[in-house]
Amino acid sequence: MPRPIQATIHSAALRHNLARLRAAAPGARVWAIVKANAYGHGIERAYEGLRGADGFGLIDLAEAERVRALGWRGPILLLEGVFEPRDLELCSRLNLWHTVHCDAQIDWLAMHKTHAPHRVFLKLNSGMNRLGFAPERFRAAHARLSALPQVEEVALMTHFADADDAKDISAQWAVFERVTEGLPGERSVCNSAATLRHGHEGAVRADWVRPGIAAYGGSPDHPLHSAEHWGLQPAMSLNAKLLAVQQLEAGDTVGYGSTFTAPGPMRIGVVACGYADGYPRHAGTGTPVLVDGVRSRTLGRVSMDMLAVDLGPVPQAAPGSEVTLWGRSSHGAILPIDEVAQAAGTIGYELMCALAPRVPVGVDPA
Ligand SMILES: *Cc1c(COP(=O)(O)O)cnc(C)c1O
Repeated sequence: MPRPIQATIHSAALRHNLARLRAAAPGARVWAIVKANAYGHGIERAYEGLRGADGFGLIDLAEAERVRALGWRGPILLLEGVFEPRDLELCSRLNLWHTVHCDAQIDWLAMHKTHAPHRVFLKLNSGMNRLGFAPERFRAAHARLSALPQVEEVALMTHFADADDAKDISAQWAVFERVTEGLPGERSVCNSAATLRHGHEGAVRADWVRPGIAAYGGSPDHPLHSAEHWGLQPAMSLNAKLLAVQQLEAGDTVGYGSTFTAPGPMRIGVVACGYADGYPRHAGTGTPVLVDGVRSRTLGRVSMDMLAVDLGPVPQAAPGSEVTLWGRSSHGAILPIDEVAQAAGTIGYELMCALAPRVPVGVDPA
């Protein structure tokens, strides 16, 4: 019998979240961001739920090949552009749109031989200082790129550093508006947080939005707002079963380092999930879990293959009982991945991406 742990990708939730994002940014086209193997969901597994998008944004060329192999003939955008000149041959062959964020990428394009000119997204560094042309250099780059016979259309993009917090987008948006004023071309600036918070503003939602985390049902600005607040449903569930039940007396301890001590008699369950499955080891005592759909908490340190949970709220639980680490229990109850991430000092993005290869993953098409 396989180890009793299973991740499930919910196609219906992906479709639902995509519809929510469309409603939040009416009229904008949607790049579904599927970098990092669709945020750990698996590009092939997520495709059924996300194929209603207008395009797919990603980073690895190998992932672009996988999206084409699924039969997708629409737009694909390389969010960091190409990494070396010969990548442009694959762009030509697979008809990929690509970001241009530096002079070297323009040099490579100028030397590239192609029959069909490329569509590119010119990236402005409006203040995040990761990728993109500085404001004072953006227009020169735009002029040079637009003049190349290898280029068919130049769209304009930037990326926000603070769309998910109180600082918000206003400073960077002002830079983008000023620098791109009067330039032709489509525009794209919104990640999930900006799409949900500013998608009702026509100028900001622009021509294309680029949501990632929200498509997978994570809140981009937890704990300010929950996924439920944004009307999002979890697209990934991680469920395991109880392997054993222990009866503790006052003073008994749990797990490595004996970090949890029972204050009195209590029943605990041992779950077939550990950090080698991608569950965060930094999640200390008190991290939320569902046992048979009922909310409880973890106890002690997470081991490689197991963790312990409090069975106080679920006296009927026994070996074989379902434990939901995040997402949807088979009883229908939901444990937001953002709450688990917060308890571990991280964000839902990281937990999704870290789902370990040893965990079997199924697709729930409903
Ligand atoms: C990852 C990424 C996104 C999506 O960000 P979310 O916060 O997951 O919505 C959008 N644009 C770019 C350029 C990205 O790299």
